[in-house]
Amino acid sequence: MTTDHVTVPEDGEKITLADEETGELNVPANPIIPIIHGDGIGTDVGPAAQQVLDAAAEATGRSIAWMRVHAGESAREKYDENLPQETVDAIREHRVAIKGPLTTPVGAGFRSLNVALRKKLDLFANVRPTYYLEGVPSPVTDPEEMDMVTFRENTEDVYAGIEWEAGSEEVQQAKEFVEEEMGIDDIIHDGPVGIGVKPITEFGSKRLIREAIDYALANGRDTVTLVHKGNIMKFTEGAFRDWGYELAEEEYGEDVITEDQLWDEHDGDQPEGTVVVNDRIADNMLQQVLTRTDEYDVVATMNLNGDYFSDAAGAQIGGLGIAPGINRGHGRALAEPVHGSAPKYAGEDKVNPTAMILSGREMLEYLGWSDAADLVRDAVEETIASGRVTYDLHRQIEGGEKLATSEFADAVVENIEDLA
Ligand code: NAP
Repeated sequence: MTTDHVTVPEDGEKITLADEETGELNVPANPIIPIIHGDGIGTDVGPAAQQVLDAAAEATGRSIAWMRVHAGESAREKYDENLPQETVDAIREHRVAIKGPLTTPVGAGFRSLNVALRKKLDLFANVRPTYYLEGVPSPVTDPEEMDMVTFRENTEDVYAGIEWEAGSEEVQQAKEFVEEEMGIDDIIHDGPVGIGVKPITEFGSKRLIREAIDYALANGRDTVTLVHKGNIMKFTEGAFRDWGYELAEEEYGEDVITEDQLWDEHDGDQPEGTVVVNDRIADNMLQQVLTRTDEYDVVATMNLNGDYFSDAAGAQIGGLGIAPGINRGHGRALAEPVHGSAPKYAGEDKVNPTAMILSGREMLEYLGWSDAADLVRDAVEETIASGRVTYDLHRQIEGGEKLATSEFADAVVENIEDLA
């Protein structure tokens, strides 16, 4: 690996692959972890998360050797490009990393660096857990009913970014293909048009759904819900659903049953240790998550639905300041919060670092450091439950103490030390 603007820490060891087939890792007690602080509020939440994760590692007899790598604004300053190869190589080589948010211009300008990173590293599953922490203000009456994990496909769907701009030669070719070759001449109105392509493959769908089912089985979850708009987009979103059921039948034997089997063969009584696979149409699911929250467990869906769904679910447990995520591939992971770079708050030491800290918790789980991961969750919960919160939660609760980003991180570290 070349190191133009990256210092490889000397006090850390590299994580390596233990098993090619399963993607299992060899994790030393002092792993080198690349970190991208990110744009906007990334410079606030990145260091705060590092401080908390360091404390959790130390409290459990380990250490993290951080390796700063760059993307977005800091990469433009150092390399004069948005996503240097060195950054991609560092994450690929060290296998497990964490990043803050990166800004994506709307309408024009460069494509999303987040999407590019996930695709270049083949991090096909964007895993977004939504669970309630005591003391977090919520717009719903029973937020504690929310305990879901969304598996969002990361490499295809409309996010694959195959689209052509109105007025371009490519869009003209695509329009002619649709109208002349395919004979569909009554859909596209005259005048400027933008055209996009939505690929959904059997391979992409099955590997994502497999990841979701494996997770459900390993973590004692009851259901995996395939969320799709297959009634309208039959051969893309509908196929995703069909491939999901096919996979459940082909690969899991009696461990996984469908919702139909649950009622037809088991009278609605789920056999111990099994996972039920069901499916819901996306628009219905957005209301089910509000009205029947506790009936859902693990959700597997395509990229765009997953983006909408996880933000909506996140709103029920405290919003974007709280919601964590991790992108997982085969023997590789990149943790990142659901929120963006919120440029208006950049550098103000104001925003909530919980989402970034809890993304770090997901990273610790991925490393197999469950004790450290639990400590992080418990310490964050204790801090919030005691009313010591950042502005976003403070404006929604009576009383409480408003903390800066860095003060919140200090308070969580204190609680880690007390709990350890
Ligand atoms: P955003 O950055 O997530 O911010 C939207 C609002 O959410 C903020 O104004 C703030 O609300 C609240 N918020 C977000 N993070 C918070 C935190 N840590 N603590 C407290 N409140 C928080 O969304 P955006 O404004 O739509 O996007 C800004 C940029 O981020 C865009 O360029 C977008 O493409 C990018 N983005 C990147 C990622 C990523 O890197 N994975 C993800 C999403 C968006 P209030 O103002 O109401 O307090």
